[in-house]
Amino acid sequence: MQAEMASAVPGKSPDSGTLRELKVFRSAGRGPWEKTPDSDWQDWRWQLKHRITSLDQLQKLLPNLTKEEIAGATLANHKLALAITPYFFNLMDPENLQDPVRRQVVPRIEETRTAPWEMSDPCGEDGHSPVPGLVHRYPDRVLFLVTDRCAAYCRYCTRSRLVSNASGYDFHPEFDRQIGYIQEHPEIRDVLLSGGDPLLLSDDKLDHLLGRLRAIPHLEFLRIGTRIPIFLPQRITPALCAILKKYHPLFISIHCNHPVELSLEARQALESLADSGIPLGNQSVLLKQVNDDLEVMKALLHKLLMCRVRPYYLYQCDLIAGSAHLRSSVQKGLALMEQLRGHTTGYAVPTYVIDAPGGGGKVPINPEYILCRNAGRVLIRNYEGKVFEYPEAPDGSPLARPKSSTALESVPDPA
Ligand code: SF4
Repeated sequence: MQAEMASAVPGKSPDSGTLRELKVFRSAGRGPWEKTPDSDWQDWRWQLKHRITSLDQLQKLLPNLTKEEIAGATLANHKLALAITPYFFNLMDPENLQDPVRRQVVPRIEETRTAPWEMSDPCGEDGHSPVPGLVHRYPDRVLFLVTDRCAAYCRYCTRSRLVSNASGYDFHPEFDRQIGYIQEHPEIRDVLLSGGDPLLLSDDKLDHLLGRLRAIPHLEFLRIGTRIPIFLPQRITPALCAILKKYHPLFISIHCNHPVELSLEARQALESLADSGIPLGNQSVLLKQVNDDLEVMKALLHKLLMCRVRPYYLYQCDLIAGSAHLRSSVQKGLALMEQLRGHTTGYAVPTYVIDAPGGGGKVPINPEYILCRNAGRVLIRNYEGKVFEYPEAPDGSPLARPKSSTALESVPDPA
């Protein structure tokens, strides 16, 4: 197996052995597909055609499937389809029943159990859809749902009511109506293409859609939300990059949850996008026994930066029906944030958010750093727990020069 050490710093590294190991970039290799010709393996359409989509296929590849997984895979096609690309499957350690890739894409029977507070549309998207496939929840931007298909299906997907069309939602985007609505609303300056995965559209379709959107004079910039560089890096071809770079400013948000997902292949795909001038951000979901661990999270964030991807959001897992077994606690999320801010590169620290249940939008949640605030001063603590005072200006804006105090230490430079 091809592997490449992540650490570029010679000599002593402060990283623990586990962290160093998690930060190695490895190739997914061929695994059970070792006889597949290279031309097929590198072809994204071949990868899609050969996805694992049935219990039979899964059992042949993972003979140690548990009874919970067998029952989950049996029922998957009535809720959220089972699909895993051969490439992504190879990132799994087949011996490990708690493998983080396995936990994300292999269905389990727990998905059929719905807690009273769980919902099929936890972000209230359907209630904010003026036309099918368009969500207008924030004042100056819209979510444009392009397709209900993904290269693989995440078992905690917030749009599982819709993606894969397993539960009868029957999603049919109407591009003319979606685009017409945007044309009629000059307050919209930002469109996020999502789904399903927009990068599953053919090059021609994507080119045409982006061209129509770019022709709308009041649109300032476009965004694409995609998990393709992680599930199917073969899709990031020179031809696709040539199309995308025509429509700048265009941003891409990827979705990556565990450092093992950042393979050599994924890094190459991300570098191709970055070389095309596309700013890249990552949205992770905090998942139980996947990434709710400090070393795993740190390795993920550090590897993202090495792939030229800025960690953007860390989502508290939405209250999607049947996701309780994957949902970590807010307390754990806050503890992770506490151990990241100040302890590692500021660029590596994402904003931790809860998408307020029912359609309230993203709410940032943070450990408390303001200890007290009044008309005269703000009392803050830093990442080491040291306390500092910052004087408040009479109009409420901070003064340029902090008041000196013998009891309090001066404010250090941020990392
Ligand atoms: S890639 Fe995104 S839209 Fe598709 S199943 Fe995963 S979370 Fe849902």
